[in-house]
Amino acid sequence: MSIMEDWRKSAKGQARIKRARQFLLERARQFLLECTEEGDGFSVSYITLKHHYYSWCQSIGLPREECGFGEIYHVLNERALLRYEPSTKGFGGKTTVIGVRMKHPVGFPRYYNKGDRKSITNKVKEAVYAKLRSNGNMCALCGRPILTDDKVHIDHIIPVRQGGMDDPSNLQVVHDICNLTKG
Ligand SMILES: [Zn+2]
Repeated sequence: MSIMEDWRKSAKGQARIKRARQFLLERARQFLLECTEEGDGFSVSYITLKHHYYSWCQSIGLPREECGFGEIYHVLNERALLRYEPSTKGFGGKTTVIGVRMKHPVGFPRYYNKGDRKSITNKVKEAVYAKLRSNGNMCALCGRPILTDDKVHIDHIIPVRQGGMDDPSNLQVVHDICNLTKG
């Protein structure tokens, strides 16, 4: 048995591990308290929440390797807020956090900004904005309204690298901060 394993099993080691875990759980709860709000009808995609969490961790000066997401999952799961919908394609699927939405802004918007492609024509953009108005000006990623002063991105529903087209049916308007690594 290694020294490390001995230590883990000792009373002192167990207490230390418990404190570290408690600390991470507190941080997860702090993030949810500061950066999200609760209400009937709210929802946010799990991946969006996760990216906001990483951004928030960076904004409070934590190195990336200390931004483990397990505790957020644990807290949400414990409160039964996670819903998994399998994909019709038979793989992938999508997990949604029910009854919660993001406050804006969270963390650093630039963390999400991977650079906008300029290939979308004005005519297509107009069609995408018409679609946004018809769905009540809601951001497709966080479920919050897009307000006049919000910075927005046009997001590909099926990423370009997976063959997604610059077609209005494959495009949606989202907050810049919600625009994730979808390509
Ligand atoms: Zn949003």
